[in-house]
Amino acid sequence: MKPSQRLFVPDRLGQGHEISLGASQTHYLVHVLRLPIGGEILLFNGLDGEWAAHLTQANKKAVTLVCESQSRPQDTVPDITLYFAPIKGDRLEAIIEKATELGAARIVPVITDRTIVRKVNLERLLARAVEAAEQTGRLSVPRIDTPVALDRLYDAQFLNSGAQETASVILFADEGGDARPIAQVLAGDHQDPLHHRVGLLTGPEGGFTPEERSKLRACAHIQPVNLGPRILRADTATFAGLSLIQATWGDWSRG
Ligand code: SAH
Repeated sequence: MKPSQRLFVPDRLGQGHEISLGASQTHYLVHVLRLPIGGEILLFNGLDGEWAAHLTQANKKAVTLVCESQSRPQDTVPDITLYFAPIKGDRLEAIIEKATELGAARIVPVITDRTIVRKVNLERLLARAVEAAEQTGRLSVPRIDTPVALDRLYDAQFLNSGAQETASVILFADEGGDARPIAQVLAGDHQDPLHHRVGLLTGPEGGFTPEERSKLRACAHIQPVNLGPRILRADTATFAGLSLIQATWGDWSRG
């Protein structure tokens, strides 16, 4: 029977590779899944595809697995980045979980004037992304950046930093009501996130200030979009925007 449990590991994967797991993944395999010696599990690392591996050694603190065969080759995710203002409570982690499920390649917390949550626990957010990637069948975990100030996004160069030069556009979810409907923008101006960098920017609970809205609107690489006549909560706006981008420009539109 094909194993269905999946684990993200930082190690390189390949035929015969031995992988040792640390304490928390060992606990999960041995005590939660109760995987016996010889039992199978799927591993992925964001680079080498997905591999079926079996458990060869286990004690209370560490286990060793050996990779047998590749079950899926590595895929490419569309280059979609979520730029979002962190919000309070469980909703912050829900944004990370859903953005991972919805296939964001990168997640960047953005600090705006009205952002209340100015510090985020990156380790915790990354753990949530890993968990969501394991469950959703992704072969990669989205990269989560340290928070940046909104000003950085006004500079088109910032978007390309650290990557090869690619065209980029950020769709800015503007609750002001006078932006073009997102569906019109997505239908009219086709971008392929496999070759273009596409971003979605959403604001905090209190929204963007009038100054921020006008600065964002003045940037050639930022396109304001309207998500309908109702004011959505910040988390809902990220889910709705990412879904529409995936459905039109992203991998939901692939056959
Ligand atoms: N308190 C603010 C709303 C903030 S909603 C107000 O009453 O105006 C949080 C974020 O979700 C916004 O900053 C925006 O990025 C996004 N958003 C919510 N509803 C939206 C809509 N109808 N169109 C575009 N963006 C929206």
